[in-house]
Amino acid sequence: MTNQTNDDAAGCGQILDGKATALAVREQVAARVAVLMEEGIQPGLAVVLVGEDPASQVYVRNKDKAASAAGIAVQTRKLSDETTQEELEAVVRELNEDAGVHGILVQLPLPDGIDEQRIVEAIDPAKDVDGLHPANVAALVQGAEGLVPCTPAGCIELLDRHEIPLKGKNVVVVGRSQLVGKPVAQLALARHATVTICHSRTEDLAGEVRRADIVVAAVGRAKLVQGDWIKPGAAVLDVGINRGDDGKLVGDVDFEAAALNAAWITPVPGGIGPMTIAMLLGNTVTACARQADRVDKLSDAGLEATRS
Ligand code: NDP
Repeated sequence: MTNQTNDDAAGCGQILDGKATALAVREQVAARVAVLMEEGIQPGLAVVLVGEDPASQVYVRNKDKAASAAGIAVQTRKLSDETTQEELEAVVRELNEDAGVHGILVQLPLPDGIDEQRIVEAIDPAKDVDGLHPANVAALVQGAEGLVPCTPAGCIELLDRHEIPLKGKNVVVVGRSQLVGKPVAQLALARHATVTICHSRTEDLAGEVRRADIVVAAVGRAKLVQGDWIKPGAAVLDVGINRGDDGKLVGDVDFEAAALNAAWITPVPGGIGPMTIAMLLGNTVTACARQADRVDKLSDAGLEATRS
């Protein structure tokens, strides 16, 4: 894709098209699945959905569709919101034991009364395609082999595929969740960026963001990041998904104003969301290749995972 430096693209506000990039990633995933199928192995993904949360139902449907299209065998377990902690843990244990399931994703959030952390910890770390198990969190921090959370991995993949360098750059992450903020900061650090993590107690958020060559906004507050906070030539990754007053989806960044300064910017929708799903598929294939001891087959075909 285009190789443009931050400086010569200042103010152009080129779209970092997550939809198109995710399609390219998904094609690569399908090619990796084909290599494993030649070995008689089909990657399997189990998605567990508890309760009736409408947003979760949409996410699960999209994941199911994308995984099937890539040749992954998907099974979706829909459980009622009456499901107890013990029942859910029993389902996870059953999937841990199922040799045809290489990746397990329990859709979050879970209904009140269920301890999410205990459920995450019940998942076999080798099958934890969401990358949230403490063993995978530790692997990320230590730079060891593990499975990386999908949204942070998608952020880095999007930058890489647009040849936007991280090395030596100031990366400012707004948000410090386990799911997005902290892991994306770790990934950027591993790529030799100078990383600042901001959160709700940060004293001068605007000042921090103004120093950023790359901004990652993962807060969940519509248009929190103002256009004039963006340094000319910066790349802006907007992870946030918020519902505006008009019912439309908006990100955490004031897109129109930020695009005037940014060299690169992700739209919402069509930015990080599709990348997240693509990376989930990639993690499933990686998990499968590791469990089936076929990582070398993917490497031989030049199709090893870029990260995770
Ligand atoms: P969390 O609610 O877990 O974390 C939000 C973070 O934002 C916290 O660290 C919080 O700080 C910080 N924050 C809140 N208010 C402010 C503020 N005024 N200034 C600075 N920081 C603030 O959210 P997630 O990380 O799970 O998700 C963030 C957003 O990304 C949401 O909109 C979510 O829907 C979206 N998302 C999108 C995905 C995708 O595929 N595109 C995937 C995952 C999430 P503190 O820690 O101090 O409370």
